[in-house]
Amino acid sequence: MVPELLIDFHRADRKNRNGYFIILSGPSGVGKNTLLSRILKDLSGVYYMPSATTRPMRPGESQLNPYAFISTAEFEAMIEQGQFLEWKKIHTNAYYGTHLPTIQYAIDNGYDIITDMDVLGCADAMEVFPEHIRTIFISPPSMAELSNRLYGRDTDPANIEQRLSRAELELNCRDSYDYLIVNDDLDLCAKELTQIIRSITAN
Ligand code: ADP
Ligand code: 5GP
Repeated sequence: MVPELLIDFHRADRKNRNGYFIILSGPSGVGKNTLLSRILKDLSGVYYMPSATTRPMRPGESQLNPYAFISTAEFEAMIEQGQFLEWKKIHTNAYYGTHLPTIQYAIDNGYDIITDMDVLGCADAMEVFPEHIRTIFISPPSMAELSNRLYGRDTDPANIEQRLSRAELELNCRDSYDYLIVNDDLDLCAKELTQIIRSITAN
C-alpha cells in the first residue's frame, strides 16, 4: 500500500514560497539514479520523490529506493482513484507513475522535490504545474556508452534492448528542457547537476 504522502517532510526545510518540482529525464541507463543518490546528501532541503512502479526490484534496490514497488492491482486501483499526476506504461509493460498528493503537498507547502521521469510523463506534468516545474535532461556521451552502462547494470538482453530502442524517443526531446547536461565523467556531471539544482532552489 502507498502511504498518504511518499515523503516525510521536515518543517525546517519549508520555504517561504511554493516548492519547486524538479524533473530529471534522459534515456534509461544514462545515470539519473546514480547521480541523484550521489548529490542529494549535499543538497539539504531537496527531497527525492520516489515514483510508484510495478516493475520488479533490481539487486541493490529496496522499497522507496528508488521506487514505491507495488502490484499491478494496486497501481490500477490508484489510477482509478486519480492518485497519479501522470502515469505511463514503459518498456516491459510495467507501470510508472508520480503520486499526485505528495507533489501537490510539496508545491503548496514550500518543499523542493526532485524525481526522474520519462519524456512523455514530463510533458504531462508540465501541463499541470507549468509554473512550479523545472526540467533537466541528462544525455549520454554516446549511444555506445549508453549500451555499455545498460549491459553493466542488467543481464537480461531483452530488458536492455527495450531500453536502447526507447532512447531515441527520449533524446529527440532534449531541446525542450530547461537545462541539458552530458553524463560523461560522473564527478563533473554530479557537480554540474548540483549547481543547477542550487541555482533553481536558491530563489
Ligand atoms: P538510470 O537511473 O538513468 O536508468 P543508472 O543510474 O541506473 O541509470 O545508471 C546505469 C548504469 O550506469 C549504472 O550501472 C551506473 O553505475 C552507471 N553509470 C552512471 N553514470 C556513469 C558514468 N558517468 N560513467 C560510467 N558509468 C556510469
Ligand atoms: P527503469 O525501469 O530503468 O528504472 O526506468 C525506466 C524509465 O521510467 C526511466 O526513463 C525513468 O525515468 C522512467 N520513470 C521513472 N519514474 C517515472 C514516473 O513516475 N513516470 C514516468 N512517466 N516515467 C518514470
